[in-house]
Amino acid sequence: MVVGSVHSGFRAQFGRQPEGVWSAPGRVNLIGEHTDYNQGLALPIGLPLRAFVAARRRPDRTVRLWSAQTSEVVTCSLDDLAPRIVTGWSAYAVGVLWALEHHGFGVHGVDLAIDGRVPLGAGLSSSAALECAVAVAASELFALGLHGKDDARRAELAALCAFAENVFVRAPTGGMDQLASLRCQADRAMLLDIREGTVEQVPLPLADHGLAILVMDTQVEHALVDGQYASRRQACERAAATLGVDSLREFDAADLDSVLRRLPEGPIRQRVRHVVTEIDRVTRTVESLRAVDFAQVGKLFDASHESLRDDFEVSCPELDLAVQTARDSGALGARMTGGGFGGSAIALVPGHLLPDVADAVVGAFAAAGWRAPSCFGVRAGPPAGRDL
Ligand code: ADP
Ligand code: MG
Repeated sequence: MVVGSVHSGFRAQFGRQPEGVWSAPGRVNLIGEHTDYNQGLALPIGLPLRAFVAARRRPDRTVRLWSAQTSEVVTCSLDDLAPRIVTGWSAYAVGVLWALEHHGFGVHGVDLAIDGRVPLGAGLSSSAALECAVAVAASELFALGLHGKDDARRAELAALCAFAENVFVRAPTGGMDQLASLRCQADRAMLLDIREGTVEQVPLPLADHGLAILVMDTQVEHALVDGQYASRRQACERAAATLGVDSLREFDAADLDSVLRRLPEGPIRQRVRHVVTEIDRVTRTVESLRAVDFAQVGKLFDASHESLRDDFEVSCPELDLAVQTARDSGALGARMTGGGFGGSAIALVPGHLLPDVADAVVGAFAAAGWRAPSCFGVRAGPPAGRDL
């Protein structure tokens, strides 16, 4: 459906047929928050919500982009690209072409029509979906060989997209999103080990067990997000330096008490406790999934939320209310996901209760006088690739 609309959008904007349509998913992290920059573990899934890109090569070095979300055409030349020169939404797409060329891959001009179905700025990574859709289109059209079934080449493409977001867009993100978008699998969660640079696919047969993941997009983003993110990151780095290790990943949950005693009293101990216990919770979630113990997965979600709320202090009233309401109305467990201070929460729910839990969360927000959240069920979807 979206494939057809982005195809006709391309024809309407550029007056020709595209050579093809490619798409890439957004992601949601099941557990393992604020662990990536501590060299830890995370467990994202690819979403069924995707960004779609229709593309056609051009004989010159011009790039033209149109997005259905902005209804705007942006035109630039590959010869003029540099960080800070292109700003706004088109930087995410153009930045990928720039990053490819910067790393020695031959690209040329292209027309791109974009239609993204990942909500923008909801913590579900519409940015990585857009980058990765452009990246697989470019890989195929320019015969770069980075998008096939080879995991190592896909990991390389993910790193190039993350480079585009960090250096060209200048958004200091961790790299999980692009890896999830390019390497996720349907009905699998991806265990990412940042320190080891490995990915393990973990079966996630939720529907077979009558379960579903409910995403609750609070539709809020509180100010100071970037400052808070940076300050948490610095606190973790300072703690690691004080403790004489490269990263907090070096500690096991079993060492926690003795590690905390070596730190000054105060928030720094809470930050370290979150990171060390959260990495442990990712391991235990994977064990519970393998043991088909979903009740335990729910408890780990709950414990993760409490740790993020009380120790890492990155939740907010909207996330707390969504999580609490989901639990009260039948979820096995619920937690905020993403950086915090807004964005989305997730709940593990019996499939037949999904509409009731969603209604309860919408009702609770209405009673609080807040803007309606957007609640929807998701299952783990396939990675970036060609659709047409
Ligand atoms: P998230 O990745 O969580 O959705 P970000 O702030 O990282 O939030 O990225 C959102 C930004 O990405 C948008 O503000 C916009 O600039 C850009 N973007 C993502 N998808 C699209 C799209 N389909 N069309 C235009 N811009 C998009
Ligand atoms: Mg993003």
